[in-house]
Order: sequence, then C-alpha cells, then structure tokens
Amino acid sequence: MTGTSGPSTTRTTARSAAATASGIARDVVRRGQSRLDRRLFPTLVAGHAPTARLALTYDDGPTPDLTDVVAETLAAHGHRATFFVLVPQAEAHPYLVRRLLDLGHEVGLHGVVHERLPGQPWSAVHRQLRDGRDRLAAIGARPTLFRPPYGAQNRRTYLLTRAAGLRPVAWNADVRDYQEPGPDAMREQLAVSLRPGAVVLLHDGAGERPGSELTADQRGRRLSILDRTMVLLAERALTSVPVSELSTAGALRGAWLSA
Ligand SMILES: [Zn+2]
Repeated sequence: MTGTSGPSTTRTTARSAAATASGIARDVVRRGQSRLDRRLFPTLVAGHAPTARLALTYDDGPTPDLTDVVAETLAAHGHRATFFVLVPQAEAHPYLVRRLLDLGHEVGLHGVVHERLPGQPWSAVHRQLRDGRDRLAAIGARPTLFRPPYGAQNRRTYLLTRAAGLRPVAWNADVRDYQEPGPDAMREQLAVSLRPGAVVLLHDGAGERPGSELTADQRGRRLSILDRTMVLLAERALTSVPVSELSTAGALRGAWLSA
C-alpha cells in the first residue's frame, strides 16, 4: 500500500468537482510547507481541475490475474493509467510490465522494497532508487516517475529521487481500497475521488503486505472498484491519462514533505 498520509477527501463531498480538486490540492500545499519548500521540492499532486482528464495511478503491483485485467479493462474503455510497480514483482512477472507498456500505460517505480525512505541512510536511499530504476530498465520499462512507499518523502529523499533522474508523484484523491471497503463505502469514496484533474491513488497489489498474494475476496473487491470506476468515468465524461501527460497539461504541484 502507499499509505494514509494523503489528505482526507470525505469532508469535501458537498463541493463541486472542480472546487474539490483544487481545494484538496491547496490543503496538500499548505501542510506545513513554506513557499520556498514548494519552489525547491515540487511534487506532483494534481492536474488542473478545468479538464476532462484525470490520472488513475495503481501501486504495489504487478499482480498476476489482476494487473493484466485492470490494464486491459482500462484500455478497452479508452483509458490509460500509471502503474507504480515494486521491482521484485516486476522481475517475477516481466510479461505484465510488457503488457502494460503495449497497452499504452505508463510504468513508474514504487520501490525495490516497500519501506519508508525517510530515516534511512543517504547511501541506502540512493542505492534503492538507482537499483530500482536500472532493474526496471532491464525489463523494458524506463521509469521517470517515482511514487514513494507510503507517500513518505522528506527534503533529502526528494533530492535523491531527482538525482536518480526520477520525479516524485503524490496524489490528491485516495480511494482507500487497501482498507477493503464495503460496497457503500467504496462507491462513496470513488464518487469523491474521480473528479477532473485528480491524481487518484489505487492499488493492484496486496495492500497490507505488498508482494504477498491477494485473496479471492480482495481480488473481487479490486475488480468491483474497477467496474464502478469505468461507470463513473463514463458518466462524468472523464478520461484517465498517464500522470506524465496530466503533468504536461498543466499540473498543480506542492511540496509533499511528510517526514
Ligand atoms: Zn505502496
């Protein structure tokens, strides 16, 4: 999982979709960071709200019999997404990485191990980022984006991420699928998350223990979320694009420093 450090989205249900997207992004920007931080440590959290685009992002995969289903369903509906993969899983299932790329999705780095980077020695963080980047490149993905595990980033890990040639990506909408929501909670969370300009956090891996196998129930819930996502995007005339394309469309950035 990526974690719970994202902003709460539930209290914003009453606002319009556009105001919600920009409002939440402002919340992120305000979270204790100075204007200088925002200039020195820019982190993508959202795109501009006045757009028919958003960016679905999936963490913790790839997972056999799930990532491929998600990727193909998205593509069949004209959507593309960004998958932030864990390196050992990508190496165990390189065909899934190739399938993602073949379908027009984007592959970013989520980590070699699923651990918080802040607090680790510089050398260890540096090694993990460079190893992760190079090992994904060896199986055909050339990541330019990094989603820090648990969304945990500080000034030091930001600089090391950039030194590895990667850009950090956070989010401004969290579906909380790792909490294994029931149908009502899932529908409510999707309704507030799928809005113009949003960078939406989702998971195609086991939330509690990344790298472990999903149970049949967990897989079923992920596929329910996927089905509901397709319906809502069609109703709202929204298209998912890779994060990097949302970025070039004019992204709203903040200094996402959590530790
Ligand atoms: Zn994660």
